[in-house]
Amino acid sequence: ARSGDPGSGYAPPTDITAQITVLAEGTRGTLSQAYLEWQKISSDNPQIFALGVKEIWETLKPLDAVVHTLGWPLPRDCFGGSFMYPLSRNLVALGLVVGLDYKRTSDDVHEMLQRMKLHPLFRDLLESGEMIEWGAKTIPEGGYYAIPKRRHGDGLMIVGDSAGFVEVASLKGIHYAMQSGMFAARAAFDALKGKDTSSASLKAYDAMVDGSFIAKDLYRRRNMRLAFQESNFYFAGFKAGLMTVTGGALPGSKIKSHSDAEVPREAVPPEPFVPDGKLTFSKLDAVFKSGNATRDDIPSHLVVGSDITPEVAELYTHMCPAGVYERDGERLVVSPANCIDCKATDVIGPRWTPREGGSGPKYRQM
Ligand SMILES: Cc1cc2nc3c(=O)[nH]c(=O)nc-3n(C[C@H](O)[C@H](O)[C@H](O)COP(=O)(O)OP(=O)(O)OC[C@H]3O[C@@H](n4cnc5c(N)ncnc54)[C@H](O)[C@@H]3O)c2cc1C
Ligand code: SF4
Repeated sequence: ARSGDPGSGYAPPTDITAQITVLAEGTRGTLSQAYLEWQKISSDNPQIFALGVKEIWETLKPLDAVVHTLGWPLPRDCFGGSFMYPLSRNLVALGLVVGLDYKRTSDDVHEMLQRMKLHPLFRDLLESGEMIEWGAKTIPEGGYYAIPKRRHGDGLMIVGDSAGFVEVASLKGIHYAMQSGMFAARAAFDALKGKDTSSASLKAYDAMVDGSFIAKDLYRRRNMRLAFQESNFYFAGFKAGLMTVTGGALPGSKIKSHSDAEVPREAVPPEPFVPDGKLTFSKLDAVFKSGNATRDDIPSHLVVGSDITPEVAELYTHMCPAGVYERDGERLVVSPANCIDCKATDVIGPRWTPREGGSGPKYRQM
């Protein structure tokens, strides 16, 4: 229960042990982070993140194109873009991905997506349809230089988003997650057959990744995202173009980056926005469409500091796409039951921890 006392369905935790564990927890994996910290495994640059908010719509008209935008409809100092593509004849996925190194407390990815749909490009297709599912998730987008230097250890391997295998320019991570999982399976098979599951044996996994298209793709685009952290949109766009043409050779050297938590944010009051509940949605309506039916008295899985200033409360309020945080005057109000586990605010402050089994969003087609 919320008090921390065991509820009626309580079962004591069970230890599960295995000779080899593959951590495939996705973005900001809790065990992966703990393991890297414990083993003091670093990367050249800190990992940085974007938040993606996505909707699935049933439409009357079919969409016969794939739409991608870079930059638009974001403020010039934000990195990101939108996508819209057909899933089937009358099913459309659309969304917006924005780097969490944005500069204002009022920047709000969920709201940016809602405003984007007012543009005729989206409105004309969507307004006769129905939004049937909504979701959000962070994406590790630090690329090559943010990959941990070692992704294996005694009886352990880290794959997919947990290891940071995402190529942000094309927003691709699925095939890297699958391929790294296959490499981990091969390394595990050989290790078990040879009765040696030590780090020395499992380093074959890192070698397979390093010799594959995963490392090659990420290396080619190694400075792409980082250019946008250090320059304005147009200059960064120019550099990104240069990288594409030269296969990453120019501009050559590694661009240093800083973590999202280090970004100074300007306290800016939000522009009022009133969703209509048909084309545009409030965060609470959106959470309902994620299938989240978590009971209200769930123990809080969010570890939030007690000395939160109103400005920081404002930052959390807008960063969280699910309305978990709300600034109420000088206070921060937290509603953990709304959480859809995207881990966005986990990047800058309040920690997300694994929570009661069965709670959270129930995505069907995300
Ligand atoms: C909006 C958006 C659009 C994207 N579009 C594309 C695209 O078009 N193409 C592409 O290739 N990639 C895309 N990506 C990236 C892609 O989704 C990821 O790179 C990929 O899903 C990573 O796979 P994974 O298996 O590492 O992690 P995930 O797919 O996130 O899987 C990890 C799983 O582990 C579970 N988990 C985590 N912690 C625990 C725990 N403690 N206990 C139990 N279970 C746990 C999670 O619930 C999850 O089911 C997109 C991402 C976003 C957010
Ligand atoms: S509280 Fe939950 S939904 Fe909100 S940002 Fe954090 S993880 Fe995402």
